[in-house]
Amino acid sequence: MDPYLHQQSGTPPPFLTKSMEASAAEKAPATASGGTRRVLLFPLPFQGHLNPMLQLADVLHARGLRVTVFHAAFNAPDRVAGYHFVPVGAGVPTADLVPTGSNADFAGALLRINERLQGPFEDSLREVLQEEEDHEGARPACLVLDSNLRSMQVVADRLGVPTLVLRTGGAACLVAYMAFPALCDKGLLPPQDHSQLNLPLDDLPPLRLQDMVFSTTTPHETMTTCLERIVESAKCSSGVILNTFNDLEGVELRKIIDGVGVPVYAIGPLYKISSGVKSSLLSSDQTCLDWLDKQEAKSVLFVSFGSLASMDQEELVETAWGLANSRMPFLWVIRPDAVHGSGNVGLPDGFEEETQGTGMVVSWAPQQDVLGHQAIGGFWTHNGWNSTLESICEGVPMICRPHFADQMINARYVEEVWKVGFELEGKLERGNIERGIRKLLCEEGGEMRRRADDLKDKATRCIKKGGSSQTMVDLLVNCIMSLPSSISMGLV
Ligand code: UDP
Repeated sequence: MDPYLHQQSGTPPPFLTKSMEASAAEKAPATASGGTRRVLLFPLPFQGHLNPMLQLADVLHARGLRVTVFHAAFNAPDRVAGYHFVPVGAGVPTADLVPTGSNADFAGALLRINERLQGPFEDSLREVLQEEEDHEGARPACLVLDSNLRSMQVVADRLGVPTLVLRTGGAACLVAYMAFPALCDKGLLPPQDHSQLNLPLDDLPPLRLQDMVFSTTTPHETMTTCLERIVESAKCSSGVILNTFNDLEGVELRKIIDGVGVPVYAIGPLYKISSGVKSSLLSSDQTCLDWLDKQEAKSVLFVSFGSLASMDQEELVETAWGLANSRMPFLWVIRPDAVHGSGNVGLPDGFEEETQGTGMVVSWAPQQDVLGHQAIGGFWTHNGWNSTLESICEGVPMICRPHFADQMINARYVEEVWKVGFELEGKLERGNIERGIRKLLCEEGGEMRRRADDLKDKATRCIKKGGSSQTMVDLLVNCIMSLPSSISMGLV
């Protein structure tokens, strides 16, 4: 039996002890109104991080908590009525804080964001705490921060504000990050030569060494520091919140609990339990939904590589002809910055004529609605965690083409653990692409879709009353409500 798929839906998560279960059952109704405590949140200013944090804010707000969102002044999220928004770091130089394209040094940018926003955040947090005190309001219950913002956690600790950490990636990814130092100690990372890349990692099945090479442009020391801080943020928090669910990653969640020593709340899929709030940094082209209405059920391939990944011009041309030659309907998202090093997207001559009626290209799509549309038969994705989770929760099988960071880990799980897709390996070349599309939509896709539908059912059950994620939300709210309210602020 597949060790990853044996858990029965609806059974309590293995990490939910009897006393925790009782606590969730007893206390949740009492705290359902949530009182009037305020929760502070600080997302990382990137699309794949803003959405889950705002969805979490929405879930907590619905339980009666008041919400203040600190956010970087650049890539600011859309404002949500009823929340208090506090921009941080207006005026700080941002040119090297926003990674551009798949070859960018993301880890370096993360460290710089921490360094540059820490001082301004301290000023803003002091102000917010002082305002609450001036108005004799209850102290904020806690700060929920993105796990990439360790420096902001240090500030919160200094000012006596308890922290919870939101991991916007999957559980398998955090497990891999926790194992990173040991792989370095063993001399496996960074890999010494190309032949090592295929090496299976015995403690992290089904991952291989190559899945742990998060970027080819980031120096090893920068990567090590960046991952260390993520794990540190989890260990130094009052709890770790993950946008995943027990039936999907129960084994990995268990490993996290054993490793971090603080409570772990797997409350995903967040987009399914919030009221649909999201913050699009680009505006979505809704007309693609009308176009999808006219397509046959499960016939269309959705192609999108998230908000940051990019390709070169030659890959774009090969992708275009691969899609056209497959003769399958497609909806392709090409962001204005989709081709690295160029502000222009040059689709090849003749492509538009060739695909008229069968294909549609947009610069940004309402992705969750698209994946949930009955016309979608498959998703060619870069496997960012949100995209992977959204595809699973809508029962859509995937062609995986990971670019960097956790995407290789997610793609590996899609192919080897959940078996709801496969990786498109090798050079991005039209023949290869055409074969991949046919494999997904015409050949092996049926079986993968059946498994994806099964996971979709499990996701649907876990967010219902008594389901694992719903129970975890109750426990999380209880935890927030019971965090100490009168710690000395340390304001000086
Ligand atoms: N997304 C979207 N429209 C698009 C492409 C992406 O709304 O055309 C959303 C998608 O639903 C997901 C997020 O952007 O929630 C991308 O996050 P992910 O973790 O998949 O990738 P990242 O952008 O962080 O690489």
